[in-house]
Amino acid sequence: NERLPVQYIAGVTPWRNFKIAVSSAVLIPRPETECLIDLAKALFADASGHWADLGTGSGAIAIGLADVLPNATIHAVDYSLEALAIAQANADDLGFADRIKFYQGCWWEPLALLKGQFSGMVSNPPYIPTSILTTLQPEVVNHEPHLALDGGVDGLDCIRNLVEISPSYLRSGGVWLIEMMAGQADAVRELLQNQGNYCNIQIHADLAGIERFALAYRS
Ligand code: GLN
Repeated sequence: NERLPVQYIAGVTPWRNFKIAVSSAVLIPRPETECLIDLAKALFADASGHWADLGTGSGAIAIGLADVLPNATIHAVDYSLEALAIAQANADDLGFADRIKFYQGCWWEPLALLKGQFSGMVSNPPYIPTSILTTLQPEVVNHEPHLALDGGVDGLDCIRNLVEISPSYLRSGGVWLIEMMAGQADAVRELLQNQGNYCNIQIHADLAGIERFALAYRS
């Protein structure tokens, strides 16, 4: 197991003010994603209602949201049962079990009963173009789950799906907020514009100045 990430060896990583348990079934939560939660805190701290974390992995985003949006109910979805077990254990250990509900399935699918009612959707979806995967550092490509990394030929498969499907799940004024890869901002902005049901589309930078987050509102 050459160049196994130290976080997998330790079984835990610091992330925001938490210790998040990880295994090789989930991505290691990253500093950029801490920024995503800062953005949610700055803009939506007073928010209530239903918020979704789609592709929750370790549960980091769901836990971060539960922490900074104290009046919101968080619904966390993942395709991987192994990931969900870790996310649920993290929520339990960190005292957020009563604030986060967990679901197995594909993106919005398990939340169909709440169609049209969501106040927000936050996601750090797989966004690496398949051809780039093998060029990533060995710690990542040889050890982190490809299900959580591989975004298809242009890296935008999952983001396209989230752009298309979210309007039917968000209430009017509902928030659409994702993390993406360097260089994807223009394409994601265009997807949101062309879909036709979003307004006030914004791109926000991470601490390195890279356009990293896309934010829009359901019109
Ligand atoms: N939401 C999780 C995270 O931000 C997992 C992301 C992913 O697996 N692509 O760490």
